[in-house]
Amino acid sequence: MDGKLVSQILREKMKSRVEELAKRDIKPGLAVILVGDDAASQVYVRNKVAACQAIGVHSRVYRLAADTPEQKVLEELKLLNNDSEINGILVQLPLPKHIDEDKILETISPEKDVDGFHKINVGAMVIGRARFYPCTPHGVMKLLEYYGIAIEGRHAVVVGRSNIVGKPMALMLLEKGATVSICNSKTPDLASFTRQADIVVVAVGKSKVLSGDMIKPGATVIDVGINRLPDGSLTGDVDFESVREVAGFLTPVPGGVGPMTITMLLENTIRSSEMV
Ligand code: NAP
Repeated sequence: MDGKLVSQILREKMKSRVEELAKRDIKPGLAVILVGDDAASQVYVRNKVAACQAIGVHSRVYRLAADTPEQKVLEELKLLNNDSEINGILVQLPLPKHIDEDKILETISPEKDVDGFHKINVGAMVIGRARFYPCTPHGVMKLLEYYGIAIEGRHAVVVGRSNIVGKPMALMLLEKGATVSICNSKTPDLASFTRQADIVVVAVGKSKVLSGDMIKPGATVIDVGINRLPDGSLTGDVDFESVREVAGFLTPVPGGVGPMTITMLLENTIRSSEMV
């Protein structure tokens, strides 16, 4: 499954929505706050800004020093909440240890919470009334849709239970009628679950957590993981070579879920401006 290709197609369609907004004198705007100098975060932010630029979404990046007091970040967020040029606010995670992540996420106005992490937006998603779906699982759903993968009535196994990927992923699959199992680090005999799955989504952060002998023939396998190998290259959580022999569909890393995540950030930012 080609996340770059599907992203390109979806981003092309977004351009016409941006043009429609321009007729109403609205230019979608995204503000990104980056605290500290984490190398991976810098790359993610750069990619997000470039993606915005390419489809006509205005972006502003606030690069704050690693020792910026929490209060300063909160003040910046409050200004952005009231800034009419900004429709989406994103705080790049992880944050330095002295900053309370929950407090930060809850200070972002739910109307501008394009990551979908605010507890009001999470609650809305749980009851099937999402305003913004979190970008990574939303991107996975769009990939499944593009490739015509049936969800209703199928067994989906999600490996990982984080608030940003595993849990929302499971909820979104459930909403579409899948029977969902959620595995975690305490799950005994992971393979006994993944072998039952029509769709496996792996979001763990460890390479080779899933191998070909752990899936059923023809299964759809989505690899969310991003792991950096000692030689600097990127790999997912899935043992690509053995899984590709057995799976019906499989996402590569890089070029699978990663670009889709950024595409869904654009989607949420445009959606937010359309609601103005
Ligand atoms: P996380 O918060 O560290 O969560 C990892 C989850 O994996 C936890 O729930 C953990 O279980 C579970 N786990 C760990 N070892 C396991 C094992 N051996 N078997 C089964 N479950 C296991 O990570 P995250 O934020 O969800 O991210 C997961 C991966 O996705 C990372 O590599 C991250 O970089 C990547 N990611 C990619 C994108 C993208 O756009 N492609 C976006 C976000 C994240 P416990 O809860 O029991 O500890």
